Amino acid sequence: MPPHPAENIHFTVSPGLPVSKLESLPTAAAAIPDNRGANLYRADPDYARLLALYLPEKLFTHLGPHFDRLGQLAGGRLDELASTADKNPPELVHRTRTGLDQQHVEKHPAYVEMERMAFGDYGLAALSHRGGVLGWPEPMPPAAKYALTYLFVQAEFGLCCPVSMTDSLTRTLRKFGAPELVARYVPALTSQDLDQLFQGAMFMTEQGAGSDVGATATRATRDADGTWRLHGDKWFCSNAGAELAMVLARPDGGPEGLRGVALFLLPKTGSDGMPNRYRIVRLKDKLGTRDMASGEIKLEGAEAFPVGALDRGFTQMADMINNSRLSNGVRAAGMMRRALTEALFIARNRVAFGKRLIDLPLMQRQLAKMMVATEQARSMMFQTAAALEASDKGDAEAYRLLRILTPLIKFRACRDARKVTGDAMEVRGGGGYIEEWSDARLLRDAHLGSIWEGTSNIVALDVRRAVGREDALPALEKMLREKLAQSKMADKARATFTQALDRACALAREAQKAEGEPIARQSATALYHVTSAIGLAWEAGRIGSPRRLLLAQLVLKHRLSARDPLAADAADAPWLPELLSEQPMNAAPDSFALS
Ligand SMILES: Cc1cc2nc3c(=O)[nH]c(=O)nc-3n(C[C@H](O)[C@H](O)[C@H](O)COP(=O)(O)OP(=O)(O)OC[C@H]3O[C@@H](n4cnc5c(N)ncnc54)[C@H](O)[C@@H]3O)c2cc1C
Repeated sequence: MPPHPAENIHFTVSPGLPVSKLESLPTAAAAIPDNRGANLYRADPDYARLLALYLPEKLFTHLGPHFDRLGQLAGGRLDELASTADKNPPELVHRTRTGLDQQHVEKHPAYVEMERMAFGDYGLAALSHRGGVLGWPEPMPPAAKYALTYLFVQAEFGLCCPVSMTDSLTRTLRKFGAPELVARYVPALTSQDLDQLFQGAMFMTEQGAGSDVGATATRATRDADGTWRLHGDKWFCSNAGAELAMVLARPDGGPEGLRGVALFLLPKTGSDGMPNRYRIVRLKDKLGTRDMASGEIKLEGAEAFPVGALDRGFTQMADMINNSRLSNGVRAAGMMRRALTEALFIARNRVAFGKRLIDLPLMQRQLAKMMVATEQARSMMFQTAAALEASDKGDAEAYRLLRILTPLIKFRACRDARKVTGDAMEVRGGGGYIEEWSDARLLRDAHLGSIWEGTSNIVALDVRRAVGREDALPALEKMLREKLAQSKMADKARATFTQALDRACALAREAQKAEGEPIARQSATALYHVTSAIGLAWEAGRIGSPRRLLLAQLVLKHRLSARDPLAADAADAPWLPELLSEQPMNAAPDSFALS
């Protein structure tokens, strides 16, 4: 077989300085290595190889310079803007200077410049819906959108919420909205001109209805002329100043619970051209995403348009939520990559006890653990993007696959991002805790991924639902068995992967039983690890990466096997320096045989 094009991609990355050179630097420069200005695309050569694998060849070639430029921005200008915007949260202004009661959210110029990059230059909210973005004539496949997002989020997480909401709202509107609504709003939703752009939002959560959406109390009433009006209190509204929002509300006289909840499109401006009848009561003071406005909104008879069937409101909203959950998984993957890139850079360039940190055994283990979780999430991102593309083309099996992969990546990658960003902070030492560096912002932002769009418990229960009600497990199992059959590995290793897959599927079936709810998280974790391990092993063969095969083995060995806390871990891991090196690995180490 000829080599895959991905095998021919080689970047020159700047290696860590040798100790002798570091020692000759002035004290301050040698003490605090600074990665600012690095190209985060080039700092991560496996990424280009994976993109060559998952994107159509022509699109990959076309997007190459855009990935490169975004990588440069993410390590430089975008990172600086993100830091400034984080320290200058938006403000809620209630009146115009002429005395009109017209609210608006005042965003810091640094945030607006990032909006111009995300919505404008890169068209991240538009590229799935129309051609012409970044010079590509067609709408791009999901893998391209997530590939760009993965780079963008390495510098800025907060803005990725409005971008994803706008993209997801457009998707849901196009899927379920009346043609007249689609024609009226989609051009503005997909505009790359900030003056024309309509951003999207999702107002669902109420004080008494968070995870329990069936408890929604916001009312929808109908005027004599047929106009729908919303009355209620929405407790968490991110991108509060958005021009359009999808809102869940309960039409009067409907049934109790989820079946009585309908989906509405709420414009910021009413059909009379005046501000619609809702009020942002206040903006939240948040741990992370400080540059993006999340508010509380009182709906006071606001005009809105029903989207799709009134009795299928939640099912339709679930489409938007799932798209947003997937985006959150992708963002967690990107944040972990940023954390790992920073940590590797520091470890290669900082000296303690006469050695580079990366040569110290305990640091090697710490970095390897971060790398495993980071690469798992990236593999899951591409696998899920592929399922979304096939599902959108009408493949019913791919729909079931997507249905389970989405909560899996949202659940586990978001949880892993909390730990990986925290560990990266520690690798920088005291500096990691200081707000001049990216670590603190990453850590604060990472914690949100596990809360919004469904907490960990809720999303793990959704995995259980996908297996039970939607019969998604056979689709996942089939895909993984095919990938295993295509992977290049010794028979003994393949048998170990197969056994892990069998056991994870058995556990998922166990979790289906009436008394299975308490093991929903354990089961989701197991499925995630098996799916990502097999994905990594498959990619290893396709792009010729022994490092990925080793990472796949490490998932099984360290994340899917019990460890006796009273027994000494195997001290001998001679492959660690090669795993962490910036050079490609020559071969997966023979000494590391799965047993
Ligand atoms: C910064 C931020 C921005 C947000 N933006 C938006 C937005 O734009 N639009 C929007 O609609 N919402 C938004 N949210 C709301 C978010 O989605 C909810 O906070 C989240 O879904 C949890 O709902 P809750 O806060 O009501 O917590 P609750 O539902 O009360 O949950 C509290 C705890 O109970 C647990 N729990 C609940 N049910 C179960 C169960 N069945 N089994 C086990 N445990 C359970 C949860 O896991 C959680 O730990 C935002 C939240 C934050 C923090």
